[in-house]
Amino acid sequence: MRKTAILLIALLLFATPAFAKVKVVATLPWIGSVANEIGKGQVEITTLVKPNQDPHMVEARPSMILATRNADILMYNGLDLEIGYLPVLIESSRNPNIQPGKPGNFDGSHFVTVLEKPVSVDRSMGDVHPLGNPHYHYSPARILSVAEGMAGALSVLDPSHADAYKANLSAFREKVRQKQKGWSALSTKGRRFIAYHKLFEYLAADFGFTITAYVEPKPGIPPSASYIEHLIETIRQSRPNGILTTPIYGRKEVDFLAEKTGVRGIIIPHDVGATPGAKDWFSFMDQTLSELVK
Ligand SMILES: [Zn+2]
Repeated sequence: MRKTAILLIALLLFATPAFAKVKVVATLPWIGSVANEIGKGQVEITTLVKPNQDPHMVEARPSMILATRNADILMYNGLDLEIGYLPVLIESSRNPNIQPGKPGNFDGSHFVTVLEKPVSVDRSMGDVHPLGNPHYHYSPARILSVAEGMAGALSVLDPSHADAYKANLSAFREKVRQKQKGWSALSTKGRRFIAYHKLFEYLAADFGFTITAYVEPKPGIPPSASYIEHLIETIRQSRPNGILTTPIYGRKEVDFLAEKTGVRGIIIPHDVGATPGAKDWFSFMDQTLSELVK
């Protein structure tokens, strides 16, 4: 009898929301990684997109709907990067917590200065990024702003742990500061690259290099054979420091261009987990920058 009573009390205690972890659903691996730093110990994270997926080409799956159904907060990149699946997930989940305008709907792009914001929005041109360049996860300053946003959002949802989120944010800020010393000492400045996709604009802006041409004629549009021929000429004449792409897309074209021109093809992780060394957002940046200057 007494045992049952103790068990009941224990059950009641653990059913109390104050003891429950905040259920975070992150779209991309880097978002899950930063959320893990900020929510450390207080959150339970589900990441929807796998590191070996092209983030532009993701489709909604039933397991994703299931995950979003129970989420306390949905954290996403924004700038239409998730346009192919996220609106469907938010609607099909019927989860009031994560609907637009709710505290559980966290758009990371709201915390960053966006590059390449077009004056007029026109998707008919074939550009997959009509709201501006969405790949800000290569910018340490912007990731710090997103982390600050996350700490704020988690504190609103879970005020009893606000102090913990604040402390985690301070630790994150300090680690970024330390890492930045090493990153900014690397000789990235003044280098010139060609890139497969418009993926590295924030990296270029933060680390002082330039991207002089793209293998994709328009973001999301693969190059034609004649465009590749034209690029071979451009690369032979301009001799860039390398041709940048990721492990999963643009690889074939970049390998071909590298072989034809003798300019080095450089494989950079597009997200946390995309290469074995990119274990979290910090090592993702470590690896990205070391590949650039190799
Ligand atoms: Zn893109």
